[in-house]
Amino acid sequence: MKKRTCISLFSGGLDSLLAVKFMEKLGYKVIPVFFETPFFEAGNALEIAKLNGIALQVVDVFEEYLPVLQNPRYGYGKNLNPCIDCHGFMFRTAGKLLEEWQADFLISGEVLGQRPMSQRKDAMNAVGKLSEVKDLLVRPLSQKLLADTLPIREGWVDKNEMLSIQGRGRHRQLELAREFGIVDFQSPGGGCKLTDVKYSRRLRDLLTHSQISLANIRFLKYGRHFRLNEQTKLVVGRHKQDNEHLSLLADTEIVVRAVNIHGPLGIIIKGDIPTLEEIMLAAQIVLRYNNSVGSEADIAWGENFSLNNIIRINKLDEEKVAEFMI
Ligand code: SF4
Repeated sequence: MKKRTCISLFSGGLDSLLAVKFMEKLGYKVIPVFFETPFFEAGNALEIAKLNGIALQVVDVFEEYLPVLQNPRYGYGKNLNPCIDCHGFMFRTAGKLLEEWQADFLISGEVLGQRPMSQRKDAMNAVGKLSEVKDLLVRPLSQKLLADTLPIREGWVDKNEMLSIQGRGRHRQLELAREFGIVDFQSPGGGCKLTDVKYSRRLRDLLTHSQISLANIRFLKYGRHFRLNEQTKLVVGRHKQDNEHLSLLADTEIVVRAVNIHGPLGIIIKGDIPTLEEIMLAAQIVLRYNNSVGSEADIAWGENFSLNNIIRINKLDEEKVAEFMI
């Protein structure tokens, strides 16, 4: 019988690697895809795919993903991770690629009962419902335990060849990894910043202040973050690498730093031009993290490559600085 083609959601985690390898071994053509956002970047997955001889497709979905993040029907996990909606979205997006990529159905490495929130049977059903392609999904690692979908009913996939893994243990998966010669993989949930406490706090701050944009999100990975007022926030580099990243990201934002003294860079983020009062407050905070100066110093500010304005400023008290921290 002619083997069909499937699109596989690929995260770089062991289960997604196993699903690809397992279906390939059965003779299916598998097209693994990674849907990239600034919250889950493709770098690691690409590396892991390459190490394991997998040609990974990467598709940027940031714009389409934002509404899912902002208003998930099934809510968030521990942090700002809308896992059920996120999975549903990924399947839905993969479903839209079926025709273009000449594939027949979708697979994923989900294992029944493996993770408390996203992979219980009811959660898997919710994912299926949200995906709008529920009937086209096959989960090879657990499919023997799940309801038959179109690829099984039509005989494109032989249910008897599927697996019946369930639960949180990893024994069977590790055994299969050895069998398939899998050399490296990402830890479960690893790589998604939406599961990180600190990152989620910063992102939530952007959401509640209606400051979500790709540019603002890119700053979230670096430095210390401060909310100065409803419209204005500040990012301060913690070390040389942070300063370098921040400097590269800064475009029209106002940059603040001590004159002729090494130390942190501050980036003021506001949709508009910051007021002198806001710049002075930012400068005071930046100075607080500069150990090379005493209680006051000259601070230069302006756009990234032209810090033409100079003000003399005092360090802000530590307790006061803490009040602004996000
Ligand atoms: S961990 Fe992140 S990428 Fe994975 S399902 Fe949850 S929100 Fe989506």
